[in-house]
Amino acid sequence: QDTLHGKVALVTGGSRGIGAATALRLARAGADVAVTYVQGKEAAQDVVRGIEALGRRGVALRADAADAAEAVEAVERAATSFGRLDVLVNNAGVGLLGPLPTFSLADVDRVLATNVRGVFLTSQAAATRLVPGGRIIMIGSCMTQRVPGPGGTLYATSKSALIGLTKALARELADRGITANIVHPGPIDTDMNPATGPYAPGQSADTALGRFGSAEEVASMVAYLAGGEAGYVTGAEFSVDGGHAA
Ligand code: NDP
Repeated sequence: QDTLHGKVALVTGGSRGIGAATALRLARAGADVAVTYVQGKEAAQDVVRGIEALGRRGVALRADAADAAEAVEAVERAATSFGRLDVLVNNAGVGLLGPLPTFSLADVDRVLATNVRGVFLTSQAAATRLVPGGRIIMIGSCMTQRVPGPGGTLYATSKSALIGLTKALARELADRGITANIVHPGPIDTDMNPATGPYAPGQSADTALGRFGSAEEVASMVAYLAGGEAGYVTGAEFSVDGGHAA
């Protein structure tokens, strides 16, 4: 179903994992899609080829979310590539877990710069560029709903900030019909959190469904929120977590 036909989306961190699946899912719904990356140029270009194979336009932009100027410029580059901007998916993020005393100041700055400051600046830039009826969608985390064990202080802090940002954006941008929502993935099988990793069995056990989710299962929710059917949905949180928060 071409619910996003003629629309343009920017997905940050779209070279792998949830971002790549989201970019392809939005393209399948009809959108032209720009993805950002830092390291994975080849992977990002593969995603663009996948978008093009679906008959849509794609572009890969190197833009580090932790770099303030690059986070802002990514919005302009995406909008310029395709002439407009309808959907921003703030997906780029880093996960850093560990005992509280082990986090250095550099760790704190890096995680907050990527997961919070970058998302804030990208959203701020997008707010002036998004068309009326546009969409901002954050990728949060199940750790904002329930922290199942030690190690999550820095990551949960960063992702929880996005809930406040989402709600405030929903209020701020409502006069133009722009919605802002946040999706909280549970354990999702990606490079960041492989379903074969040493902590995977415990994470599966923390969910009601007893398994990892796929990046595509998160992408489906993002596609719904990006589409016209979600026009009355804003400032809301959506768990795609196999019941991790239940
Ligand atoms: P991956 O590590 O598998 O992929 C991360 C993506 O983000 C890559 O495309 C990477 O690009 C990009 N990226 C990383 N840092 C930056 C940066 N500074 N600027 C721009 N792009 C960047 O992660 P996931 O797909 O698993 O995670 C995606 C989002 O979902 C993250 O925000 C994460 O916190 C969140 N999440 C993930 C969960 C999981 O279990 N997987 C659970 C809950 C939330 P490249 O390396 O090519 O530069």
